[in-house]
Amino acid sequence: MDIRFDGKRALVTGAGKGIGREIVKLLTECGAAVVAVSRTQADLDSLKAETGCEVILADLTQTEEARRAATSAGAIDLLVNNAGIAVIQPFLEASVEGWDETMAVNLRSAFLISQIVALGMVERGKGGAIVNVSSQASMAAIHGHAAYGASKAGLDHLTRVMALELGPHQIRCNAVNPTVILTPMGEKVWGDPVKSAPMIARIPLGRFGYPNHVAQAVAYLLSDQADMITGATLPVDGGYLVG
Ligand code: NAP
Repeated sequence: MDIRFDGKRALVTGAGKGIGREIVKLLTECGAAVVAVSRTQADLDSLKAETGCEVILADLTQTEEARRAATSAGAIDLLVNNAGIAVIQPFLEASVEGWDETMAVNLRSAFLISQIVALGMVERGKGGAIVNVSSQASMAAIHGHAAYGASKAGLDHLTRVMALELGPHQIRCNAVNPTVILTPMGEKVWGDPVKSAPMIARIPLGRFGYPNHVAQAVAYLLSDQADMITGATLPVDGGYLVG
């Protein structure tokens, strides 16, 4: 199965590091013209040098910056809402600031960007595909993940409502739900072997994932090979969610 995106224009958020960066590389290899959005200029500069992508610097917690990024990206056929943060705090100690920032990046920015991008898709009448990068933490309770898990459960449901309302315009909307992926975020949250060992023990495949595992699932869901798939939440979790 050869996935190609020649002639397509893709927008990827949170593209500076980790999973988003890998998605930009893969979509570029598959022939897409990619616009990368992130909030650290040095990451965008190195990504542009590596892939030839276009770049937009934006802090997606800011409504007008998110809208400006989506508008200035131009006519987008493929959207990946990947930007996310993990503020891990025990529920009884969780801060309202952590809650608000988590919601702003992980859920609200996907709403803001998707609304503008999908409006353009509807106006052009050629359909499109959107993938939201969610998490296994949307479906399973994990210690310290109250805000994070709630934001990703919200993202899963946003995905379903978007699939319902945008389906008649041939715009497909899906989510991927990774387990721990070894990125800067994954290392920050799970880098301590004392914490990671019980998590690995619950994953049937017995290992954490890498950014390319998520990028390949995203590319599939964006591609014409997934032409009849919309509203899905696809675990990329080594089987964690079966338990
Ligand atoms: P990462 O290594 O921390 O990279 C996240 C990227 O998003 C960074 O480039 C970051 O930029 C950018 N970003 C964060 N907040 C932003 C904002 N307000 N505006 C614009 N860009 C912003 O994270 P990752 O592990 O690749 O995670 C990517 C996605 O996968 C997230 O949605 C995450 O929740 C999800 N996920 C990750 C894992 C995991 O274990 N890694 C598991 C399941 C799901 P700066 O570095 O400049 O802040």
